Amino acid sequence: MIKETINKLKSELPATVKLVAVSKFHPFEAIEEAYLAGQRIFAESRPQELLAKVRRLDEIRAERGEPDYMSDIEWHFIGHLQTNKLKMVLPYVSLVQSVDSLHLLEAIDKWGEANAKVIEVLLEPHVTSEQTKQGFDPDELMNVLSTADGYEHIRFRGIMGMATFTDDEAVVRSDFSRIKALADSIREVYPGLVSDFTELSIGMSDDYPIAVEYGSTMVRIGSMIFGERNY
Ligand SMILES: *Cc1c(COP(=O)(O)O)cnc(C)c1O
Repeated sequence: MIKETINKLKSELPATVKLVAVSKFHPFEAIEEAYLAGQRIFAESRPQELLAKVRRLDEIRAERGEPDYMSDIEWHFIGHLQTNKLKMVLPYVSLVQSVDSLHLLEAIDKWGEANAKVIEVLLEPHVTSEQTKQGFDPDELMNVLSTADGYEHIRFRGIMGMATFTDDEAVVRSDFSRIKALADSIREVYPGLVSDFTELSIGMSDDYPIAVEYGSTMVRIGSMIFGERNY
């Protein structure tokens, strides 16, 4: 099933859209199955769980005496990240998609400086009425980018957004359209960022075909690939 779904998604998605397999709450074996089916990018939303999976892979490599097994796997982080958990996440991920506050952004920059690393990030705006607690206010997000040069250990790659959790397609469309408009206006206002600020991470299992219509470059798909999650 995992393999069939991955193949179906890959054939369906335009070549410009990357498939990110959201493996949270699923065991490492499910990730391995997806990897063997050709999937390379996986996303987790909890630091502890990410770390456990990274370590499980290390164990498997040691057990099999194959240090390079699955060596081209790529991890993304997509959950709320507390600044005291950075060291559990930043050494292992190629992209933090869920930078949702100035406080977090500054902490990541500092961590990058201390660890001689540049961290690629997406900024997460809140555009729906549901997400008032997390995410940048769109105006605040524009302000942050006006000082982008000051973050020497951050590479701003784009935006991650979520539509309202609803069956009402019109609402989902209006959310995606606002997220896309925000990304477009950033590119317009800050042309210096343009070459790097290319990612628009929108679309999940239930709404990815719509997200693709609104310019998604990265869809984050969990339950459709791995089945329902047991929280
Ligand atoms: C869990 C999660 C997903 C995947 O959701 P599905 O509906 O299972 O595809 C995508 N993005 C974020 C930020 C998530 O937390």
